[in-house]
Amino acid sequence: MQNISEIDELIKLISKLPGLGPKSAKRIVLKLINNREELIKPMTKALTEVYKNISRCKNCGSLKSNSNRCNGCESSKNKYNIICVVENIADQWSIESSSIYKGYFHILGGTISSSNNQKKEDLLIDSLVERVKKNNIEEVILATSATVEGQTTAFYIQDSLKNTNVKISKLAQGLPVGGEIENLDDGTLISAFKNRQSLPK
Ligand SMILES: [Zn+2]
Repeated sequence: MQNISEIDELIKLISKLPGLGPKSAKRIVLKLINNREELIKPMTKALTEVYKNISRCKNCGSLKSNSNRCNGCESSKNKYNIICVVENIADQWSIESSSIYKGYFHILGGTISSSNNQKKEDLLIDSLVERVKKNNIEEVILATSATVEGQTTAFYIQDSLKNTNVKISKLAQGLPVGGEIENLDDGTLISAFKNRQSLPK
């Protein structure tokens, strides 16, 4: 490789993306450079637009365009009395594509963990409690991962909701230990939803 700092910088950034190492980052950068007009130009524009206009909804944690109302919130045309709590948007997409669940989502944006700096405030748990109270929600499904962090987070949420009357349930046992929702196949996900267990109040 020649040492061209602009290219090195781009390779470094792209190799931070999920599933990509330095080798695939190099291939991507070469592809980009060889397709300046078809790829680099529109991609630069699209990235700028996303950077400027897309943010996380402070109410439900979903992504929204700053110029529109949030689709994931209670303002949407579908009214539900159920909220499914997930760690991230990829989890929501997996659950949606399995078609097992119709209701609102609440996206935490992470988990409570002692090993990272994720703050409880960032997980929008207060706004989850607000949503439950304001919208006559009857059930909250905790669909966090079967990891230590996921289960700690679920326990914390359960505790935060104890002063509401909402029914709280958890995806069924049978999720593989360490299983992250986004990596589950539809069959496992569907049976985990169908056999979800109510948690004692
Ligand atoms: Zn929202």
